[in-house]
Order: sequence, then structure tokens, then C-alpha cells
Amino acid sequence: MRLVLLGPPNSGKGTQASLLAERLAIPAISTGEMLRGAVAEKSELGLRVESIMDSGRLVDDDTMAAVVEDRLSRSDARQGFLLDGYPRTLPQAATLEGILVSSQSDLDAVVSIEVPETVLIERALGRGRQDDSAEVMKERLRVYDELTAPLVGYYKDRSKLHTLDGNRPVEVVFESILEVLGH
Ligand code: AMP
Repeated sequence: MRLVLLGPPNSGKGTQASLLAERLAIPAISTGEMLRGAVAEKSELGLRVESIMDSGRLVDDDTMAAVVEDRLSRSDARQGFLLDGYPRTLPQAATLEGILVSSQSDLDAVVSIEVPETVLIERALGRGRQDDSAEVMKERLRVYDELTAPLVGYYKDRSKLHTLDGNRPVEVVFESILEVLGH
């Protein structure tokens, strides 16, 4: 199973990614977590992306292509994976398509978790991660609407898209994802 999870910040995407990865026995690949790891390690990548992440903007597509290509080439991703936080732009979706074509594979499904903006803001206020100040949260939402939301149409055109209501309890959202995946 090769999956992409789409959803705005605070949609519960990360939580669902962990649950799904465990149930489907595939690695959950979170580019945000990978980058936070790089920042914590103060690696060359981490030093380069830290201020961009803190501002709520996106790391450039070329950097992300290298991160994802490297991660997907690891043996644990050969039998399937779940991407959480990638792709986030149309060029990133094209990069992912290229990586998959060159390994003669394809995505099975893209699940888009939809949550009203008022709920996203409420959730952000209760969370308090370092990059979740009100201003940064607003920027992350703006970036999502401008650069990531177009992926919904991109995957709809490719008949991969399943959208579902993320404004429900975690277990209910989880069950409905399994259902659209046919599990
Ligand atoms: P996340 O945990 O997925 O919300 O990611 C945290 C931050 O990491 C984002 O706000 C971006 O600055 C950066 N990031 C994560 N994934 C990507 C991506 N695919 N493209 C660009 N930036 C990313």
C-alpha cells in the first residue's frame, strides 16, 4: 500500500498517519518530523531549514526532493509507505510521480482530511508547538491554501483522491480511512 495523507496543519493528519502505519504495517514517513530531527541534530540540512520552518513557510522543493528520494530508497519503504506532509506543492507531486514511475510503482490512494478553519485554529491554540504561535499558525494555513490545497484537484484528476470529514473523534476518522482504503 502506497499512500499519501493530505490535510491542513492541525487536521489530525499526523495522528492518523501513526495509527494507519501501525495497522497497515508500513512506515509512516513524516517530512516535518524528519526536518525537526535534522534541526535537533544541527546537521547541515537542519541549520539550513530551521528559520524557514519557524516562520511557517515551506522548505524549497529541491531540498525536499532530495530528502524524500533518499527516504523512499530505503529498504523499509519498498513494500509500501504512508507519506505525511509530502507532497505539499504541485512540483513536489510531480517529483513523487517521477520517483514512483522510475521504480515502476504508483500510489494506491490519497486521503484528504478536511477540517473547518475555525476548528483548526481552536486546535492550534490548545497545542503550543514551537512553530504554533498565532501568527505562524495563520501563515501555515495561508501556505496550505495557496500551495498545498491544489493537490486535491491534482489527485482527483488522477482518480486517487478520497476526501473525508476530519472534524470527528480520532477513532471515527481512523475507521473511515480504513473503509475508503477497503480495509
Ligand atoms: P509538518 O510537521 O508536516 O507540519 O511540517 C513542519 C514544517 O516543515 C512545515 O511547516 C515546513 O516548513 C516544513 N516541511 C515539512 N514538509 C515539507 C514539504 N513537503 N515541503 C516543504 N516544507 C516542508
